[in-house]
Amino acid sequence: MKPTHIEHLGIAVKSLEESIPYYENLLGTKCYNIEEVKDQHVKTAFFLIGETKIELLESTDPEGPIGKFLEKKGEGIHHIAFAVDNATDALAEAGAQGLLLIDKVSRKGAEGMNIGFLHPKSTHGVLIEVCSK
Ligand code: ZN
Repeated sequence: MKPTHIEHLGIAVKSLEESIPYYENLLGTKCYNIEEVKDQHVKTAFFLIGETKIELLESTDPEGPIGKFLEKKGEGIHHIAFAVDNATDALAEAGAQGLLLIDKVSRKGAEGMNIGFLHPKSTHGVLIEVCSK
């Protein structure tokens, strides 16, 4: 899939209200965007470090993906997102290599990016997202 860089790291948090000031202080930079992604049942908050972002994810529904993750594992790193030229092509390529996919084609994620996920069962336990503009 030839990623150009790590687009962002997704971190599941219980509360954006509590974690945003913590990360602003830790990183020395302000959160520049807060956005709800309704179909994923999350509210996201973004910080920029170089060309890589930190994406904080707060659940808006205990039955959603982040709600379930927090219930099972607690707060922590949820996924790594690689920037690729075309997310749908990258998913097709990974599928052709026999990797399990959560998304066969890309969909709209936060910040208007085209995103899709590979299944952690075939990526050594890491949830991997691909995203393109
Ligand atoms: Zn993400």
